[in-house]
Amino acid sequence: MFSKNTCGTSKKPREHHAGERCYCVLTRIVFGPVPSRRLGRSLGVNNIPPKHCSYSCVYCQVGRTPVTTVKRRRFYPWRTVVEEVLKALDALEGSVDYVTFVPDGEPTLDAELGREIRSVKREASVRVAVLTNSSLLHRDDVQADLLEADLVSLKIDACTREVYMRINRPHYSLDLSLVLEGIRKFAREYQGDLITETMLVKGVNDSLEELRGIAGVLRSIEPHKAYVAVPVRPPAEPWVAPPTESVVVEAHEVFSEALGRGRVELLVNPETGEFKTPEDPVGGLLSIISVHPMRLEQVREFLEKRGLDPEGTIKQLLEKGEVKIVCYGGEEFLARILNARRDR
Ligand code: SF4
Repeated sequence: MFSKNTCGTSKKPREHHAGERCYCVLTRIVFGPVPSRRLGRSLGVNNIPPKHCSYSCVYCQVGRTPVTTVKRRRFYPWRTVVEEVLKALDALEGSVDYVTFVPDGEPTLDAELGREIRSVKREASVRVAVLTNSSLLHRDDVQADLLEADLVSLKIDACTREVYMRINRPHYSLDLSLVLEGIRKFAREYQGDLITETMLVKGVNDSLEELRGIAGVLRSIEPHKAYVAVPVRPPAEPWVAPPTESVVVEAHEVFSEALGRGRVELLVNPETGEFKTPEDPVGGLLSIISVHPMRLEQVREFLEKRGLDPEGTIKQLLEKGEVKIVCYGGEEFLARILNARRDR
């Protein structure tokens, strides 16, 4: 089950580097490539161990955040992150559209993010994207790190404090006006592709008033594209549901009025492309579903293509307590069990 570790050994965690602190298999840092609705073939970088985030969004597909945090710190040695990316790109012969920092939590909590982005760009000549929840953009060091990326996606789910508290459930020190100020400041400075994502949750942020307010924020930052998403994978809170189709269309209209036609796109269906992983199919699958729970039919297809018995492999993972099957929106998904991730 354990593939070769970053340090070159192939033993289980805690059986190698006896007595030393080793980061190499605490989690798989690189996953995919996964088909991304916004980024094409995206090689994911999970630079944050589960689950460190400044938010605990009700729709989060990684589950609730046990303790929200705004403290930036070094989670993995930055060189390890870069080496993992380079190794994966080598195995894939560089055939990806983006290397994307899209972890189990908030990528800007990683104090080494800027150095990692710079090194990956310099050493691999590949475009780098970061999907952030925008909460720390009021900090100069976070802005400086993100300015290095070719594409930055900002989360903007709310424009009023009440809705912000309900949908994003932020760390107590975060204030929406501070977050929006950081977003506007960053948008003025940033030269790369700036896009936004707004996740709509039924009965939470889908009123016409809130949509108009969010549209106003979008107009003030002029993103290259604004994406409107709805939950398509199992959310942290079971009551979370997508708004009705007419509300989604209304959101598209309101945002388009603010930004102009062709600059708003709906993300309302799950990805349909192929999930890939360079080596160790089971380890790769676990890395992908840590961040992106996959529909069961996609998992079966993924395993079958790699010569594995889909039903037997899924059964084994379920018995080991590594994964769980979650039903959402009439479909079955394979998701990682949060605690199981810590041991790998
Ligand atoms: S959706 Fe993103 S920002 Fe929200 S809790 Fe999950 S990881 Fe954090």
